Amino acid sequence: MEAEALADAQRSTRNFKRFLYILMFFVIPIFYAFETTVHWSELTVCMKREAFFLSIFFFYLRYGNPANPGFLFDLLQILLIVWIIQQMNIANLQEDPKCLETGDSLYLYSTEFLFQMILWVCTVMSICVLIMLVGLIIFGIMEAYIYRPRRRRRQGLSTQEFSRLKKVEFRKEDIGENSNLDTCSICLEEFVEKQTVIQMPGCRHNFHEGCVKGWLEYHSICPNCRSDLREQFTSQQRPQQHENPEANGSTISVRVED
Ligand SMILES: [Zn+2]
Ligand SMILES: [Zn+2]
Repeated sequence: MEAEALADAQRSTRNFKRFLYILMFFVIPIFYAFETTVHWSELTVCMKREAFFLSIFFFYLRYGNPANPGFLFDLLQILLIVWIIQQMNIANLQEDPKCLETGDSLYLYSTEFLFQMILWVCTVMSICVLIMLVGLIIFGIMEAYIYRPRRRRRQGLSTQEFSRLKKVEFRKEDIGENSNLDTCSICLEEFVEKQTVIQMPGCRHNFHEGCVKGWLEYHSICPNCRSDLREQFTSQQRPQQHENPEANGSTISVRVED
């Protein structure tokens, strides 16, 4: 259970990192490139210069990475991008004498545009993060209460169910002329006389315990003829209860199979 919870947490972290990557390296750069291209003629010289360096920086982050440097490095990248956006702040631009020289109304308009852009990106980012958080919570609840129980039901036999399988001594005379029953169809080895084997209920196919155990951890059907073992268990249970009249007096708990 703890291993499962850990795996879930790791998966959530991985998804969150993937989302951040898409946001940082696809959504924002594409939006940035689009806006810069559309408003290129309205940009001042120093904004064009910053746009150029920012593009190179994005390109480096996306393609110039050493192999998988880990989450701390990602965090560093995000902080760097935040720092760069702060560097593009209006106050900084207005203090830059070069920008003021090229300035006037066009300059004010472009700084206004820049401010609007940063505002827009921040709004979009926070909306995305909000939607993702709500999604994570909803999917987490669905995973825990709907999907996982349903999946578990389809999984193999429990140890309790496994112990209900019959262990029999293999005898050649019992199988008679049916020659394909003297072989374990998993390892394809012939059974030795008086060897202990696991017999499937209903179809009576025999297997070595070691061979079939691994299969039944993940499946609840006979590996040879695919008959459902749980169905066999329940159909075996019913006639036994009818045959046993003493069962009426004492309390007997009946396992309910789904
Ligand atoms: Zn075998
Ligand atoms: Zn079978």
